[in-house]
Amino acid sequence: MPRVGVLALQGDVREHTASLQRLGIEPLLVKTPEQLALVDALVLPGGESTAIAHLLITSGLREPLQERLNSGMPAFGTCAGLIALSSEVLDGRADQWSFHALDVSVRRNGYGRQVASFETPVELSTGDLVPGVFIRAPRIERFGDSVEVLATHDHGDGAHPVLVRQGAVWGCSFHPELTSNTVIHEIFVKAL
Ligand code: GLN
Repeated sequence: MPRVGVLALQGDVREHTASLQRLGIEPLLVKTPEQLALVDALVLPGGESTAIAHLLITSGLREPLQERLNSGMPAFGTCAGLIALSSEVLDGRADQWSFHALDVSVRRNGYGRQVASFETPVELSTGDLVPGVFIRAPRIERFGDSVEVLATHDHGDGAHPVLVRQGAVWGCSFHPELTSNTVIHEIFVKAL
């Protein structure tokens, strides 16, 4: 069984850990390059993408994680984690950087501010219906040819992707980890 890690610098680390534990997986918390070297796949949690980006630098994880992603390590980012994996961040901070591991352009807070957070059922391409918790969620405004769209949401202005995959790298605008539904974690883990 591949060793799954959760990037544990900031955000809903505990919630992702609990989701994986429900699937019988005990993830390794990754805070250092040494811990990163021990995992085969990494979950990047939701939280605050600028804080995560800052802590990736101070922890010394930015470069080794970039190398692992470049060499094909499976990764799953939710919300701020999706922003971190993306190839372009719109409405980001002037100095905001990302890993370019997933060929999508995301707009930070693209559904509005905290007060505009919402919950809605999301239907996956597998036919599963999952609860979609969107909290200051990034909106996927562009995706490359090699990106597979696994779920869309129509926020009143046409359907657009909310769960995507490019090879081994997955990104989700919402927070499956904030519910007891483990369908998306299970799909990610089964693909490892
Ligand atoms: N808007 C946040 C950011 O830019 C992400 C919000 C979230 O992860 N819930 O980091």
